Amino acid sequence: MLQAARQGGAGVLGSLLAHWQAHACRQVVLCECGQGMSSRGRRGKGLLTTLGPVPFVRSFYQCAECHQGRFPDDERLDIINTTYSPGVRRLMARAGSQTQFEQAAQDLLCYAGLKIEPREIERVAEDVGRQVEERLSTEQEQILHAGMSAAPKLKAGAKFYVSFDGTGVPVRKGELIGRPGKQADGSARTREAKLGCVFTQVGLDKEGYPQRDPDSTTYVGAIESSTLFGWRMYAEALRRGLEQAHQVLVLTDGQRYNHTIVQTHFSDAVHIVDLFHAYEHLTALAQLLWGPGAKAPTVWRDLLEAGDIGRLVRKVGQKLPDSAKTKKAMLKQLHYFENNALQMRYAEFRENDFFVGSGVVEAGCRTVIGERLKQSGMRWSVRGANAIIALRCCILSGRFEDFWASRAR
Ligand SMILES: [Zn+2]
Repeated sequence: MLQAARQGGAGVLGSLLAHWQAHACRQVVLCECGQGMSSRGRRGKGLLTTLGPVPFVRSFYQCAECHQGRFPDDERLDIINTTYSPGVRRLMARAGSQTQFEQAAQDLLCYAGLKIEPREIERVAEDVGRQVEERLSTEQEQILHAGMSAAPKLKAGAKFYVSFDGTGVPVRKGELIGRPGKQADGSARTREAKLGCVFTQVGLDKEGYPQRDPDSTTYVGAIESSTLFGWRMYAEALRRGLEQAHQVLVLTDGQRYNHTIVQTHFSDAVHIVDLFHAYEHLTALAQLLWGPGAKAPTVWRDLLEAGDIGRLVRKVGQKLPDSAKTKKAMLKQLHYFENNALQMRYAEFRENDFFVGSGVVEAGCRTVIGERLKQSGMRWSVRGANAIIALRCCILSGRFEDFWASRAR
């Protein structure tokens, strides 16, 4: 019955298209070079729609001067150089962004009765991802140069959070030339994708912990330099209401480039370094002194929780051993605390009911990037990975339907 309904629907759609073509007002078709173009007869093409294949014939126009060709009907239907209708491309992009392309092909067959090759889904999903990225970068330019057309609304008293982190995406060998890595032989297997998120916090939960506003999280991400990423992050924060926010907080894990981005774009914000990363560095210090399995003494942990980093560093510093190698490793860890001391005023942050952990962006790294791009056996091109990251950020930020609607306009 479903198949028959689809076939019937496809027949109706075919008639509607033919009727639309026959009754559309004919406009003069111009070539890029400015010359008028004339019809060179009708050409057919296969068109796959969500209802199934629909026969489609349209006029071909050519320029007498420079011989360029155009299909005006394809342009109006948004099917230039493709045999998939916009509706089918939307399904292909969504399916291909969710699971591996082979799986996506099976999903589309099962859910929508559409038989499409995995390679085609890959090509179209990445195409759509690049269109999403193009639209986002236009929007970014607009926000950075002309400002927001309308000020975004924030709930009264909302705390505004910006958080970002990196995660390795396995890439093809050609993408790694000249890049040192973490493998035993010094080679690399991955390129770092940076992911950023913006969310708001209004109050506390029943246990008195800060609570994130449901559905307030949006994501941006890409494999790109920290400079470019800083601008991407900043534009997203502006779009979400950075300038309207009364209190802005930035949560990171304390790497050097984090400070650069905060100083460049969020200099008025309170920068907080993730407490759990700080704990890990404290454990690393304990293990350098007392061997694997050692835990940081309670005194150290209390000093960290109190945000008294000066005393913590002095206390640990008294224990520096004679071995030059261990000493060097310990000093490196201590520098982490010295460099991030201002961002570790945890007692003060807790007093103000701020988040002190970067759990939101870490979970984002797993859901936005890990679940789709870091499955076993995957090797991405940077171009392909960035297209899928753009697509997933758009979908998981709840902006994909808007993107599609604006395309149609
Ligand atoms: Zn021409």
